[in-house]
Amino acid sequence: MATAYSGYMGKVMLIDLSTQSVSEYPWTDKDRELFIGGKTMAAKILCDHFTGKETAYSEENLIVISTGPLTGTGAPSSSRFNLSTLSPQTGLITSSNCGGSFGYHLKRAGYDALIIRGRCAERSWLEIKNDKFVFHSAEELWGTKVTECQERLEERVGHKRFGRLVIGPAGENLVRYSAVVSEERAAGRTGVGAVFGWKQLKAITVSGNHEITVHDPEKVKAHCKKWYAYLRSHPLTGNQMPRMGTAGLVSSMQMRGLLSTRNYSAGQYEDFEMVNGETLAEEHNIVNKGCLSCPIKCARTVSVSGKAVKGPELETLGLLGGGIVNNSMENILRWNYELDELGMDTISAANTLAYAMEANEKGLWDNGLEFGSCDGISQLWDDIAHRRGIGDELAEGSKRLSEKYGGKDFAMQTKGLELAAYEPRRAVGMGLGYAVSNRGGCHLNGGYLVILEGLGLNVDSQTPKAKADLTMMFQNLMEMISDSGQCLFTSYAFFPGFLMTRPNGFITTAANKIFTHLGWAIRIINKFPTALALHLPVFHHTKRIKYALGMPMTFGKYIRNGERGYNLERYVNRRFGVSAKDDSLPKRLTQVPQDPNNPKTVVPLETMKKTYYAARGWDKDGAPTEKTLRKLRIIQ
Ligand code: SF4
Repeated sequence: MATAYSGYMGKVMLIDLSTQSVSEYPWTDKDRELFIGGKTMAAKILCDHFTGKETAYSEENLIVISTGPLTGTGAPSSSRFNLSTLSPQTGLITSSNCGGSFGYHLKRAGYDALIIRGRCAERSWLEIKNDKFVFHSAEELWGTKVTECQERLEERVGHKRFGRLVIGPAGENLVRYSAVVSEERAAGRTGVGAVFGWKQLKAITVSGNHEITVHDPEKVKAHCKKWYAYLRSHPLTGNQMPRMGTAGLVSSMQMRGLLSTRNYSAGQYEDFEMVNGETLAEEHNIVNKGCLSCPIKCARTVSVSGKAVKGPELETLGLLGGGIVNNSMENILRWNYELDELGMDTISAANTLAYAMEANEKGLWDNGLEFGSCDGISQLWDDIAHRRGIGDELAEGSKRLSEKYGGKDFAMQTKGLELAAYEPRRAVGMGLGYAVSNRGGCHLNGGYLVILEGLGLNVDSQTPKAKADLTMMFQNLMEMISDSGQCLFTSYAFFPGFLMTRPNGFITTAANKIFTHLGWAIRIINKFPTALALHLPVFHHTKRIKYALGMPMTFGKYIRNGERGYNLERYVNRRFGVSAKDDSLPKRLTQVPQDPNNPKTVVPLETMKKTYYAARGWDKDGAPTEKTLRKLRIIQ
């Protein structure tokens, strides 16, 4: 379906695995204007198909693989693509975002998105080359780990310049937190790999020779040059992230009591220096790497048994370090590699293990696992991925285990998805984000307020004041960054660099103080975003959309689009029964102060939730009202 907008390829394909048939899916320019791309586009497609009766493991469950209009256009960090489906962890709509080059190659093949339904009659992989869709038997690939699988696909395709998505043994064996992997990057969270596994789809490869065009090449080029320079000059995106990646945050988290330790029973780990970003960079980093067209290059290559492999992110360092009381960096590097190879989410795997250790310690489940005891964990990952012995139970994740063995108060998950490594009792806005996030305990979908509450700025991390309104604004912004096909890390440069380089300066101190008094102002912007019909000098994303797509865009419109996407996912999740009671946190975080001498060190969730629902235009049960849905043009 042709489009008047550049950046898009103009075609969305519907693939039925049961019948091995392929057809074009109608997607108009009206849809492109309202549901830009990525996860919002996917949410609209899922909204039009799901009734609320579907389950993750069913032929009716769809997988939508969608790019953004900026994917592959050369914009900074614009290699991203999105996978949305029903999650086997949460039973709700989920989106999982990934770098690498699959999105670029999908567009080069001529497509903005693929919609996959049904189930393969036998184990298969799908090869897409321009307009050719060929199903192959995957019997010989089944059982392979992700690197071997990708190497074998290279042999089958006959060259290296193609996009690839594969699952490992974890996905094949329906581990609820299994990933889909593309090169070294992973759509790691919420179990999308298991949906591939259930559908008996081991891999997809894609290549083509279509051109990705932009609306105004001259303006795009000039703007791009400016934006790259800005990102390179910013202390977070130009220094900390390239130097240490997200791992660089471990020390700041420790300092502020934000580093989840011993299954979130504390926020500081005494041996943190042995497992922080500095140690990783100085003693283990071989080289920095990045996704296509990314100036930030946040990925690290490390050595494991003499092999150069992808290094761990902050979440993995935190949760497989202090989270289970392990101070060996070598262990973390090896486990990170093993989990990647098996195709498993490191965050959920680590949290599930920590839950099991605590359940054992408390006498609820005699499983032999102990904090600080690291022998046999490599074998355990393999057992989980192949569902052997205790691994079969751990493959179900912490929520289901706590329902079986007890200990719901310390199963650190929301809606079935385990939390990231940020301990929210010292960043209460982050706690609200975890609770209300559409995909469960996700820091990014939750709005990532922790960047204000100690990791970039130093806004009062214990007060609920303004946190609901800020969470809504950040969620909307990040939703749209993701929709457009860009990496969320580009948003790190949203706040001017001097606020970070001069943390005790007059302006920074004033900014930190002022933020919590600005709830009313943020509320007005959230309510009437389109009144901000302008571009912000620190936020380059809006101009790029305008120049590359030829689509009118302002900062206000950008936020409104993000708001539409966020509400659309919520609207679909309501069909699957989500209500206010699901926007929750484990009692450890809301009722047990992190500092026993300071009762304020809990997440005042209910207070913030009430304000958040009101700001969002949701009713008391957390449902978007009809007025909100009409305002956002989700319903007519
Ligand atoms: S910042 Fe990191 S994850 Fe994001 S696009 Fe760049 S290299 Fe990839």
